Amino acid sequence: MTNCIFCAIVAGTAPSVRVSETEATYAFMDIAPGNDGHLLVIPKRHSTDLLDIDAQDLTAVTLEAQRIARAVVGDLDADGVNLLNCCGADAWQTVFHFHLHVIPRYADRDRDRLRLPWQPGVPGDRQVMTDFADRLSVALG
Ligand code: 5GP
Ligand code: ZN
Repeated sequence: MTNCIFCAIVAGTAPSVRVSETEATYAFMDIAPGNDGHLLVIPKRHSTDLLDIDAQDLTAVTLEAQRIARAVVGDLDADGVNLLNCCGADAWQTVFHFHLHVIPRYADRDRDRLRLPWQPGVPGDRQVMTDFADRLSVALG
């Protein structure tokens, strides 16, 4: 895909700090990390987003993110990890080559810069929930 920064990173024509590489995936450090150790796992083959990526590449990227998450928590000094995918500009996606964010989390609140983007523990509207679930069930068949 021309004009895709992540395709350029895979091709080696744009720089990156490499973490790991498999036949189908490439992992590298995020240039603007949310926390220390924030990295991205991408398929080598271009796909735009979660809606577009094929099952084989999604499986490969997810399994590599899990392998990396285990090392981040088990072998480095992270206390937890978040996986994040943004699908669509309205969902914070800014690079339109599928990627999973792997974000190490730290118990030390002075070190951990992430905050939950919704209010935990605030109950939702039951009617809105059931309406959405009903419509989605129909859509899913
Ligand atoms: P999104 O907002 O699409 O979920 O995430 C895109 C991520 O890619 C951002 O966290 C951003 O910092 C990172 N990013 C954008 N351009 C580059 C780049 O050229 N190199 C690296 N390493 N990361 C990038
Ligand atoms: Zn691409």
